[in-house]
Amino acid sequence: MREASARLAELTRLVMAAKPAPFWLDRPDAPAARAPLRGDLACDLAVIGGGFTGLWAALLAKEANPGRSVVLIEGSRVGWAASGRNGGFCDASLTHGAANGRERFPAEFGTLQRLGAENLDAIEAAVGRYGIDCEFERTGSISVATEEYQVAGLRESTAADGVTFLDAEAMQAEVNSPGYLAGTWDKAGTAMIQPARLAWGLAAACEQIGVRIAERTPATGLASDADGVTVRTRHGVLRARRVALATSAFPSLVRRLRPYIVPVYDYVLVTEPLSPAQLGSIGWRNRQGIADSGNQFHYYRLTADNRILWGGYDAIYHFGREVRRAYDQRPATFARLAGHLYATFPQLDGIGFSHRWGGAIDTCSRFCAFFGTAHRDRVAYALGYTGLGVGASRFGARVMLDLLSGAPTELTQLEMVRGKPVPFPPEPLAYLGVQATRWSLAQADRRAGHRNLWLRALDAAGLGFDS
Ligand SMILES: Cc1cc2nc3c(=O)[nH]c(=O)nc-3n(C[C@H](O)[C@H](O)[C@H](O)COP(=O)(O)OP(=O)(O)OC[C@H]3O[C@@H](n4cnc5c(N)ncnc54)[C@H](O)[C@@H]3O)c2cc1C
Repeated sequence: MREASARLAELTRLVMAAKPAPFWLDRPDAPAARAPLRGDLACDLAVIGGGFTGLWAALLAKEANPGRSVVLIEGSRVGWAASGRNGGFCDASLTHGAANGRERFPAEFGTLQRLGAENLDAIEAAVGRYGIDCEFERTGSISVATEEYQVAGLRESTAADGVTFLDAEAMQAEVNSPGYLAGTWDKAGTAMIQPARLAWGLAAACEQIGVRIAERTPATGLASDADGVTVRTRHGVLRARRVALATSAFPSLVRRLRPYIVPVYDYVLVTEPLSPAQLGSIGWRNRQGIADSGNQFHYYRLTADNRILWGGYDAIYHFGREVRRAYDQRPATFARLAGHLYATFPQLDGIGFSHRWGGAIDTCSRFCAFFGTAHRDRVAYALGYTGLGVGASRFGARVMLDLLSGAPTELTQLEMVRGKPVPFPPEPLAYLGVQATRWSLAQADRRAGHRNLWLRALDAAGLGFDS
């Protein structure tokens, strides 16, 4: 008992020495703030939200039609929210993984996989075309089994998903953790990126082709009439023919969308750079992103300067669906994450941490983005990526632009685009339901994946909770 509390005190000391800020955003070359929008302005397309979804929407709209005037307004700074503070796993999956996609959209799963692969290729092409230095490395990603019962699941996915199975020996030769029992390596489906630099680079690309970006410009309301949409902002009014809403986990300007999303907080640590000897003790020469296979899973990767980014496991929902900066820090979760990192890589026991942070994830009950229009089809939205939106946000942007065009396209005809997730109930039921689900998922991890009655009832209702 005394040993456990001494260990916890030591872990807490180590993580609290880290800077309470996202590693990716903490750079001397971060761009200067852009001026807010003041007074009245008119444009063809207004984009609200300067994360990946909004930035891609602005870029793709202007690329497709250079004559169209496009204005992007961001309430704070470009990329400050989820887009600049995530794990940097840029995944081809549009459906929060193959298993979720196959189960929810069986008839069009093949199409969604193709569109996802094309989407990731298009991101890579845009990064090259605009010279965005976002440390893009198409390393692929590995799912590891750390419990015996997970090995069979990985083996099954090998044939279905075209991934490479690694037995314990092969897995440990790739990345050396005594806890690894097997792995599957998806070699083409994921790239590792520096997400803040991608957001900043996309914003620069937008401006290069004529998009106007205003920061510190929160939109406070939307109204529409026969001529278009009026976006009220803190210091002015933006008149637009069409609006793309890309506000993620934040309260939607379209009120009826609010029940579909709960903001779930996910937490991340970054270590000090590994010495060549420390890195050598782990291997990891192919630098893949890694995630383990439990319900409460960790995701981890190397940064360009060979730190380990280590995140996930706890997924915290705060009563009342609020997004607050105070929630970005959670010492108990950081200490737990540090303990798990040292258990995975005992070679690194005691390595220090440089950064710690958290962020809100726009979680919906089907785990992947949903789309639609409001204000008589003049406003489109894409949200609900549930923790896998770095790559899928470009697809979400394309869907919004197709919906705003008014013409049917391959994307607007998809079942994934036409359907909606089941909304979450109001408080206090949402809070109680999320807590019951978290408890049940943790229990399932301890009981060889066995899902209790609550989880099976949610599965049957198509409802879920994830980060
Ligand atoms: C800790 C963490 C780790 C993650 N790891 C991964 C990962 O490794 N891989 C992955 O694929 N996904 C990951 N995700 C999820 C991924 O980051 C998101 O899905 C993606 O960034 C969503 O982009 P977005 O543009 O929709 O939202 P955001 O980046 O949240 O952008 C929304 C923007 O809208 C602005 N806004 C909101 N309301 C208004 C308003 N009224 N007026 C003006 N502006 C407004 C906000 O200020 C914000 O900048 C992670 C998320 C977190 C938090």
